[in-house]
This record gives sequence, C-alpha cells and structure tokens, in this order.
Amino acid sequence: MLQLIYASGATKPFTAESLRTLLVAARTNNTGAGVSGMLLHVDGAFLQVLEGEAAVVEALYTRIGKDPRHARVVRLLAREVPERNFADWSMGFFDASGRATEIAGYRPTAGFSDLIGDPKQLLRIVDQFRDGRWRSLAA
Ligand code: FAD
Repeated sequence: MLQLIYASGATKPFTAESLRTLLVAARTNNTGAGVSGMLLHVDGAFLQVLEGEAAVVEALYTRIGKDPRHARVVRLLAREVPERNFADWSMGFFDASGRATEIAGYRPTAGFSDLIGDPKQLLRIVDQFRDGRWRSLAA
C-alpha cells in the first residue's frame, strides 16, 4: 500500500461550490479506483494524502499534477504503509480557510510545501486529521 502526500497551490481561488465539485468528482473516481485519503484546503493551499495500490496512486498523482486548477505541486512524502490511514473515507476533506493559525507547519507564503523538510510535522498534521481533530467539520 502506497501513501503519497503532496502540497500544491490553487491557481485561482476556489469557491465553496468549486471545492464541492472537485470533491464529488474525486470521491467518485477514488472509490472506483480503491484510493482513499484526505484533502486539506487552507486559503488556496492544498495538502493531499493519496493511498492505495502503488501504480494506481502514482497514475492518479500524475493526473492531478496536470490539473490547471492548481500549480507548484510538490511531492512531500511517499511511503509504504501496512494499512490505510483513511480506510473509511474515499477522500476526507476539511477547509481550514481563515483558520491557518490552527495548523502548525502552515506558512501563508509557502502553503504546505515547506513541510518537505519536516516529515515529522507533516505526519503530525495527517495524524490529527485521521484521528478526528477536524473530522466533525469535514464535508
Ligand atoms: P477530465 O474531467 O476529463 O478533465 C480534463 C482536464 O481538465 C484535466 O486536466 C482536468 O484536470 C481538467 N479539469 C477538470 N475539471 C476542471 C475544472 N473545473 N476547471 C479547470 N480544469 C478542469 N481527482 C481524483 O480522481 N481524485 C483525487 O483525489 C483528486 N484530487 C484532486 C486534488 C486537487 C487539489 C485538484 C486540483 C484536483 C484533484 N482531482 C482529483 C482532480 C483531477 O486533477 C482530475 O481533474 C480528475 O481526476 C479527472 O481527470 P480526467 O483526466 O478524467 O479529467
């Protein structure tokens, strides 16, 4: 099982409606492909975890990387995991826009891409999401 985590930045601001459109498509595709994960959005910055069969995850990451709705796509971490962290979510989602200070490691100028140098902090954010810190607010 491959878990791949990347950061990116929106090329144009996402509205609640455009985020919802993206999520509906992602959840439908991911369910079909056996991919689970999480998507965090903060003021135009994305952090996404994709997990599933390695070839499927890599192909999806390549496709996502070509999406013109975001840019500066940075692969932060790719690791083998014995089991899914997000087994019950095709794509968990939380929009923390306006609440960036609640997320340690997020910097307004760089989004989440700085976390490439701090895998411990990166995994802390992922674990907080998995353990339900923001779950009640997730769409
Ligand atoms: P089509 O739907 O046929 O689209 C063709 C092209 O247009 C693609 O390059 C596509 O990226 C782009 N596109 C699609 N919709 C729009 C739009 N509204 N505005 C501008 N360009 C558009 N997809 C998943 O399946 N799973 C995910 O987990 C996932 N996560 C994503 C996370 C982020 C931050 C972003 C920006 C996109 C994500 N996507 C995800 C969407 C993914 O990039 C593709 O759009 C989607 O998988 C459909 O791919 P397709 O080749 O069938 O494209």
